[in-house]
Amino acid sequence: MSIINKFYVVGDPIEQSFSPTIHNTVFKYLNLPYHYDRKLVNEENIDSFVKLAKRDKQIYGFSVTHPNKQLILPFIDELGEMARVIGAANCVAVRNGLLFGYNTDGNGYIKSIMRTGFDFNGAKVKIIGAGGAARSIIYSLLQVNIASLTIYNRSLPKAVQIASEFGGKANVQRLEDFSPIHCDLLINATSVGMQPHISDCPVDNLDGILPDTFVSDIIYSPERTKFLQMAEAKGCAVENGLKMLILQALISEEIWFERNDLANNEELIELIEEEVKKEIKAKLL
Ligand code: NAP
Repeated sequence: MSIINKFYVVGDPIEQSFSPTIHNTVFKYLNLPYHYDRKLVNEENIDSFVKLAKRDKQIYGFSVTHPNKQLILPFIDELGEMARVIGAANCVAVRNGLLFGYNTDGNGYIKSIMRTGFDFNGAKVKIIGAGGAARSIIYSLLQVNIASLTIYNRSLPKAVQIASEFGGKANVQRLEDFSPIHCDLLINATSVGMQPHISDCPVDNLDGILPDTFVSDIIYSPERTKFLQMAEAKGCAVENGLKMLILQALISEEIWFERNDLANNEELIELIEEEVKKEIKAKLL
């Protein structure tokens, strides 16, 4: 079978990206003769990559990661509503030489939590972090019917800015004033606790948290951050960021192929999870 479509993830650094494993697993599962690869792209060469993507008829789409989620915006011909409001795109579809930009991070997150059975309807939500990932998640949280949202961030102005840009529906608090009480869903959307800094945690303790609070961390390596370990010790159900990573990718595939049956395909999600876990383990050796 000849490869008729090519896909990329573009970023810098790029060697650590799990996107090729995720997407190539999908192509294999769907029996599609396509290939997905990494490309080192940053502000120095993003314009030449864009020219290539528009010219090369085999390039069907690409994923965008740090530092390009904002850098790509001036090159996009048509930006989806979510990417426009968030101010960042992580998924680009190439159609007839034109670039269509989307943001699938926030909806990937919402789907990852919904599939655990968590009901967003009327939920009191607290999120720690106000960086790029938190921005996408906060946008999507404000689209589902939650009762309240509190954003905690080390740098308060960033949290204030997000809350005001997104219609002022969120409360903002200093990270020093963090409290896990009156909360149905608690999210760590900071980078604190990621490999190799696995003993770090964005908060000192989770004292006062009720065991029926669902706790999530969007970090997926380590599998259990210090934050999630503390939550489990309090009896809370937890979820790491691996399903978010997989689901944002499956939503991207749905956009590229104009279909809607991938992000709810449990067999495929499990298969990808197995492959990514193998790769995480190999990278840690
Ligand atoms: P980012 O834009 O750089 O934001 C980093 C966030 O972490 C900011 O809120 C920052 O606070 C906070 N932070 C960093 N160091 C801190 C410290 N020592 N104490 C307290 N807060 C600290 O990064 P991002 O793109 O949002 O990514 C955040 C994390 O999410 C990363 O670990 C990334 O790998 C993960 N992620 C996961 C997925 C997934 O699919 N699961 C997707 C995207 C990102 P300040 O504003 O005060 O600097």
